[in-house]
Amino acid sequence: MINKQLKYIFDNSYEGVYIIDKYRKIIYWNPIGEKLSGYTVSEVVGSYCHDNILDHIDQCGMNLCKDGCPLDAVLKDGIIREAKVFLKHKNGYRVPINVRGIPFKNDKNEIIGAIEFFNETSEREIVLEKIKNLESLAFLDHLTQLPNRRYLENFIKIKSEEYLLNNQSFGIVFMDVDHFKSVNETYGHKIGDLVLETISKTFLNNLRKNDVIGRWGGEEFAGIFSVKNIKELSIVSEKLRNIVENTEIVYKDKKLKVTISIGATFINNKNDVLGIIENADKLMYESKRKGRNCITIG
Ligand code: GH3
Ligand code: MG
Ligand code: MG
Repeated sequence: MINKQLKYIFDNSYEGVYIIDKYRKIIYWNPIGEKLSGYTVSEVVGSYCHDNILDHIDQCGMNLCKDGCPLDAVLKDGIIREAKVFLKHKNGYRVPINVRGIPFKNDKNEIIGAIEFFNETSEREIVLEKIKNLESLAFLDHLTQLPNRRYLENFIKIKSEEYLLNNQSFGIVFMDVDHFKSVNETYGHKIGDLVLETISKTFLNNLRKNDVIGRWGGEEFAGIFSVKNIKELSIVSEKLRNIVENTEIVYKDKKLKVTISIGATFINNKNDVLGIIENADKLMYESKRKGRNCITIG
């Protein structure tokens, strides 16, 4: 029934495709069918629709494979049918799919089988998209579009575990914008926000693949850097201080600049892991005391 050319086309379809003969025996099953259902060609081909391997149910939970199969109806009257059904994945969960049954006819216009095209319903894709968005919302700081504190804390935990397991060293860099209160007071809160947005872009543009900078809160940022020693950490910190100092915040005809004070800690002993954040914070205040726009490493 299915020749080489048709097989080639269906094998490469974006939709799930299967073909039954007039006895409802499944004679073809394509790779997308495998992907959507978890069942391989060898598990499906040769079985009968009514063996209920795919266990289709409708929205009311009615089993369709034994009684009420749309494809069976197509076989009987040759009318194309569409339906929304739920197939059972091999792993047990239900997958909502749109199905379209088309009669398979010979040259004499006799029905010799039927083809079903099926794909996941778009509702499911929308739900998955929403979940993905929620995930990013939970870890994203809206104003700066940087990872938020929750993300950073999680990331520091992962890096600490990696360090304890296989000594992969890293450093934490705490950054606080200097005299930010007076930026707000002088230029207004909106420009204050723009300052945070602009320096966040500077951070993002100067980040290596495995490093992270996020907003810790207010005008405070934290970075986690994969560095081998304290020297490397101080180079990274000095670079951050320098690129912020040389970032211009442009608003209408105004241009302004801010500086940051930095405290950075390098993980080099097992006890550091617990106090790493507090330590970096303390060192940052040391930089404030020294006169701001500088780094203190420990
Ligand atoms: P220092 O150099 O000692 O850090 O002084 P500072 O003025 O930066 O520090 P302070 O903690 O006194 O003030 C921080 C200010 O940051 C106060 C707060 O209103 C402002 N701020 C916090 N979050 C935001 C924000 O999202 N947008 C704006 N515009 N301001 C913010
Ligand atoms: Mg602060
Ligand atoms: Mg500050």
